[in-house]
Amino acid sequence: MQEDAKILIVGSGVFGLSTALWLARAGYRRVTVFDMQDTETAGYDPGVGIESASADINKIIRFSYGDEIEYQRLASQAAEIWDKWNQQIASLATERRDELPEVLQKGEPKLWYKCGFLRMGAASEFSDYEIQTLRNMEKEGVRGTQFKSDDDADIERASRTGWAHKLDVCRRQERFGVHKAVLDSSAGFVVAYKACAWAQHLARKAGVEFILHPTKGRVVGVDTSNPDKPVVRTVDGVTHEGYLVVVAGGGWTAGLLPEADGLIETTAGSVATIQLPKDRQDLWERFSPENFPVVTWGMHEGRVSDKDIYSFPRDENGVIKIGFRKTKWTNYDDVAGKRISIPKAVHAKETNIPIPALEAVKEYISVNLPELAGLGISSTRLCWYTDSIDNSFVVDFVPGRPRVAVCSGGSGHGFKFLPVLGREVVRILEGKGAETVYGRMWKWRTSDKEKRNGLEEGEDGPRVLGKQRLASREDWVFREHVS
Ligand SMILES: Cc1cc2nc3c(=O)[nH]c(=O)nc-3n(C[C@H](O)[C@H](O)[C@H](O)COP(=O)(O)OP(=O)(O)OC[C@H]3O[C@@H](n4cnc5c(N)ncnc54)[C@H](O)[C@@H]3O)c2cc1C
Repeated sequence: MQEDAKILIVGSGVFGLSTALWLARAGYRRVTVFDMQDTETAGYDPGVGIESASADINKIIRFSYGDEIEYQRLASQAAEIWDKWNQQIASLATERRDELPEVLQKGEPKLWYKCGFLRMGAASEFSDYEIQTLRNMEKEGVRGTQFKSDDDADIERASRTGWAHKLDVCRRQERFGVHKAVLDSSAGFVVAYKACAWAQHLARKAGVEFILHPTKGRVVGVDTSNPDKPVVRTVDGVTHEGYLVVVAGGGWTAGLLPEADGLIETTAGSVATIQLPKDRQDLWERFSPENFPVVTWGMHEGRVSDKDIYSFPRDENGVIKIGFRKTKWTNYDDVAGKRISIPKAVHAKETNIPIPALEAVKEYISVNLPELAGLGISSTRLCWYTDSIDNSFVVDFVPGRPRVAVCSGGSGHGFKFLPVLGREVVRILEGKGAETVYGRMWKWRTSDKEKRNGLEEGEDGPRVLGKQRLASREDWVFREHVS
């Protein structure tokens, strides 16, 4: 690929942004990103209406990956750049604040909060996943960053290093007589919308062009009738010929590349928030990142627990986000003569979540954070994942279309790699994928396994959104607090 090759990227979420940034930094001078949503003006703020997996208030940065050490390593490399980005933003904020993207000029000029990550078990024993995670932490020489709740040496080290107050933030030992958890002091969260706005700002500075518009930026098809000259068609009727097209459309990817259906599937995650009242400074203090870590409850515990909940400290507006991961909902529709799961339309989005998801969030609060129950839920939202058959990303050329690549399959864990993902994508796009660990992991693939991360269920499965009863505002109140 020549440096003046015209590269067209569909999607300005994490996958498209990171790819664009690393392509430009590798010397490619003609990179254009299309998006049907004006992510620049909105600064990726979901509150302003941007609908994508990346446009969110916060996302977890973790290094715990069970036996998947390659993701653990990539997350550590990303963390080094998250650190650098924090430093760059802090110094711009003091010296040349007006050069920061608008969302970073307002509020705290910071992306990455190393508030710790408490992997809290719902069962009475540690899961195999947890044990394997700790083994790999040991292997990488970072076991010292982890504090196991039942390990005396770890508890002592947590006290010495100022982490003891985050070891049992839900007072489970005192209240239930059992607390199985590991606190990762190197992990935390990033402010997702600010991070995307920053990456877009860096990509622009590196020379990337962005077309972010509901008609000029909305891609309706990728034409490969001439395989050496792929053409992107946008809603305004314009055709854009490129040397290479990269489809990084998140949940919309399989709709644009129907051949990816079966390898990736769009599903909805369920998210709820609680708004802390301004006059409850006690709660603002308790749930601040200084005092409260990211918490998961019963995650990766398979058969021993069915909880699968994650929560964040409050953000700078006093919002606490809580997500339910156990069931991801599908939304099948007609696309190019096929039935494919796609996100609910950007302008007719669904904000209500299914009852089982809301009930699980409420159970987490009632059991672990009862002081929040009286406030009730403040909002709910569906957030669209792109799951692959094995939870690993999909970055490769599309079979039969040599100049079209797919860059997707984030499977609910892609955000943390924003600073570094594109480095690996560029290697794949340059045809070196077979030589790299990630190129081999993310290649186009099929599976004949009976269980394929739920993709085997299709439209007949029980997770179809249309089959669920959705929660309404009345359900947001906790029963014991109804007056
Ligand atoms: C509920 C939830 C929780 C998550 N939590 C975490 C977490 O804690 N930590 C973590 O690391 N990861 C997490 N993830 C995963 C992470 O958010 C995703 O992997 C990542 O954001 C995906 O980015 P993307 O670019 O593939 O897709 P998206 O962010 O969805 O972006 C796709 C973009 O493509 C655009 N687009 C689509 N179709 C078209 C078209 N036809 N024309 C033009 N533009 C188009 C869209 O407008 C959108 O802007 C989570 C995901 C979800 C859903």
